[in-house]
Amino acid sequence: MVTVEANVGPGLPGMHIVGLGDAAVKESRDRIRTALANTAMPWPRTKIMVSLSPAHLPKAGSHFDLPIALTVVGSLDPRAQARLKRTMFMGELALDGTLRRVEGILPMLLRSRAPGGDDGPDTVVVPRANAAEAALLGRGDILVAGTLPEVWRWVVGEGHLDPAPAASRGGAPAGAAPDFADIAGQLLERDAMEIAAAGGHHVMMVGPPGSGKSMLAERLPGILPEMSVGEQIETTALHSAAGISRGHIVAHRPFIAPHPSLTRVELIGGGSGVPQPGAVSQAHNGVLFLDEASEIAAGVLDSLRIPLETGRVVHRRSRREVIYPAHFQLILAANPCPCGSAGERCSCQPGQRARHLANISGPLRDRMDIFIPTTAQSAVVSPRGSESSAEIAQRVAAARDRAQHRWARAGVSAAVNARVSSTVLRRDFPPDEETVITLQGLLKDGELTQRGVDKVLKLAWTVADLAGEDQPRIDHLDRALALRASHMVGAGAGAVA
Ligand SMILES: [Zn+2]
Repeated sequence: MVTVEANVGPGLPGMHIVGLGDAAVKESRDRIRTALANTAMPWPRTKIMVSLSPAHLPKAGSHFDLPIALTVVGSLDPRAQARLKRTMFMGELALDGTLRRVEGILPMLLRSRAPGGDDGPDTVVVPRANAAEAALLGRGDILVAGTLPEVWRWVVGEGHLDPAPAASRGGAPAGAAPDFADIAGQLLERDAMEIAAAGGHHVMMVGPPGSGKSMLAERLPGILPEMSVGEQIETTALHSAAGISRGHIVAHRPFIAPHPSLTRVELIGGGSGVPQPGAVSQAHNGVLFLDEASEIAAGVLDSLRIPLETGRVVHRRSRREVIYPAHFQLILAANPCPCGSAGERCSCQPGQRARHLANISGPLRDRMDIFIPTTAQSAVVSPRGSESSAEIAQRVAAARDRAQHRWARAGVSAAVNARVSSTVLRRDFPPDEETVITLQGLLKDGELTQRGVDKVLKLAWTVADLAGEDQPRIDHLDRALALRASHMVGAGAGAVA
């Protein structure tokens, strides 16, 4: 929260803004002076000192225009003091005094009502262009305004401002995500995606070009449960902070598919100045699809490990830290070898094939739950091939429900199986003897790591949840092992289905 103060005193006319503002804050002075002149509002013809505090924190953005303009004009009018002291203002000024929309408004609005913040403002005034985002919060203390004079009349008690309109949620267009009904055949792949959706498991796909990797990936959000209002607010706030929301509410699970040339900062966020949310945070509550994974730099890919483990990214700066949530379902996709043809027609040198996918480190691979070898051949027409996303989503929702009730009985509020802690899993839900013996054997032979064992167990729970069973049996475990083991065949996996 930044406090704006102005001192209007004797001296040469001019305005100085102190408090570590960036270029946009410094240019504020010219926008304000022009906007005031064009709207015939008073301007003190003397020395004006504006201070933004706390002074030691850097400030960025054009949204300080409105509070600075009001503070300066308000210093001439005692009627303004009461409302200026108890209100939070945000808005960029156009030269004619119109209020322009502000990027990142949702995180700021959430902060104005932070838990425990008793000294927060009574009221918040935002540009009318931000009304849709403000409406999402359903709060009565947020007012919208179109122009600076409108706000000024309200501040001095001569005018009225409208509250942010009620949210128009659920009005999102149908069919926002493409439908599984469009994919014929590929039964194994479809099943694997259903399991991934039901348990929140990460997926790695390896297969030749044209084997449907992107088609499968972009259909995952459509079989996940609808986002709750809380999730919509979280994800919209992150899109807002990243400057990609364009004032829209993120009503459906996001599907973020960056180009393989992306940098570490583009992937996990950060950058100079105010840290930005990266792709992992833009995909929060949704799906992050990294296609052509063999083309992504190893260091970039490896930066995924912390968000995958903790569900958030912490950006440290000299005096503060910024934390962005990053709970996403990851889909990595790659060709089986550099030429992409796989199998007998492959024209790659043995060395090229060996180096292929070497950029995906062992630890990152180990964090992937399901490995899907996609093949062009498996795309055959079948009765189940035309099942729609809505039908699959029903089974996914039922399985998630079953899981949530189970974890709740153990006092764990896990949204999905993949996020249940391994300790809880082993302590409160021990597997049967047959399962234990099988897994211990695989661990001893080096076929699975300890993390791999936990991941297979969680997968087996998801398979059992989808089958409507109360406990994973050995055939559920076998299915889980098969889903995870496909990557053992390595390069050329596409031909081995
Ligand atoms: Zn090849």
